[in-house]
Amino acid sequence: MINEAMYTLGDEPSAIRELFAYGLARKAEIGEDAVFDFSIGNPSVPAPAAVKEAILELMEQDPVALHGYSPASGDPQVKQVIADSISRKFGVHATPAHLYLTAGAAAGLASSIAAVTHPGDEVIVISPYFPEYKTWIEAAGCNIVEVPAQVPSFQIDVEAVTAAITDKTAAVIINSPNNPVGAVYTRQNLEGLAAVLLAAEKRLEHPIYLISDEPYREITYGAEVPYVPGIYPRTIVCYSYSKSLSLPGERIGYIYASDTMPDGDQVAVAVAGAGRALGYVCAPVLQQKAIAKVVDEPSDVAAYAENRALLTEGLSALGYEYVQPDGAFYLWVKALEEDAQAFSDRAKEYELLLVPSDSFGCSGWVRISYCVSADTIKNAMPAFAALMESYKKE
Ligand code: PLP
Repeated sequence: MINEAMYTLGDEPSAIRELFAYGLARKAEIGEDAVFDFSIGNPSVPAPAAVKEAILELMEQDPVALHGYSPASGDPQVKQVIADSISRKFGVHATPAHLYLTAGAAAGLASSIAAVTHPGDEVIVISPYFPEYKTWIEAAGCNIVEVPAQVPSFQIDVEAVTAAITDKTAAVIINSPNNPVGAVYTRQNLEGLAAVLLAAEKRLEHPIYLISDEPYREITYGAEVPYVPGIYPRTIVCYSYSKSLSLPGERIGYIYASDTMPDGDQVAVAVAGAGRALGYVCAPVLQQKAIAKVVDEPSDVAAYAENRALLTEGLSALGYEYVQPDGAFYLWVKALEEDAQAFSDRAKEYELLLVPSDSFGCSGWVRISYCVSADTIKNAMPAFAALMESYKKE
């Protein structure tokens, strides 16, 4: 018999993917340039030339070895290169045994959640949050506990997290730079969270894991992105090259169970077990090997910085309210009516595809992905103006 829960997941595409699919169909109907598609976070910056060179070089190697399986947790040499890179960048001692290479942050998050929870546990997320967290938490048999971020800073509300912790709390997921609001958590904010988690661990006499989802680590506009394991030892980092090197379709990233964690060796083994149980073994090998050659390649954020300026200046002039993003490539904009879905539907009439906030766990906002061409933003401004006018007329 079909599993109902799985059927429901398969039958209900995420709001983001639904809008993205609508955009593709609409573009086919009225033309690519007539639709202003701000739905999905597909990087608009090309992958660095070094990635192509790395892949071309690899293609010269013995195909049997090149395309063969790696160990489940990844190629040992690649893991060593990544561990060395983490150690250099963050001044820690990262060991390859604590790394598990994955098909992007998605596989990393699903495996990490499964590794440190039991059915019936609670996992705290800071809302608004990346919608798939709910899917992965519930797939692990756990309950999601949504804790709203502080408004208007969208930093973690440490007091609210304190109030949400129960004896069932197994983990907290954070994401900085953040999708969908673009906030980057300050050191002070993270230290506040760490203090609360340490106190709760002591009181409850069980570990609370901090799962740090970091695909946007390098996509920032000058803000410091503190290294979370340096602040809270019991941290599991889920990293991905999808955004930093514009490789979302190649499905490559890693889980790093911090070496500073008291039970880090056991967590690394449990992560491997969860990866095995979920079928996330042996991340794409060509991509593993390519990453090892470009591991310190810088991210190119110039185009996103330009888009951010174009969009925020344009929307400010039209009277829209939004959260100034310090990182990632999303703008969180106040909907012009309380019902974000109704606002998104109205925006569609102007060929503007804006993701309503409901699936991110809060109401009244929309997300604009500005990883698009600068022309899309410039050409969309009359549509944003007309959308605003339509509300003013009411
Ligand atoms: N976490 C966040 C916050 C994201 O925005 C995304 C993708 O957009 C992911 C995880 C999944 O990324 P990946 O492509 O590495 O699986």
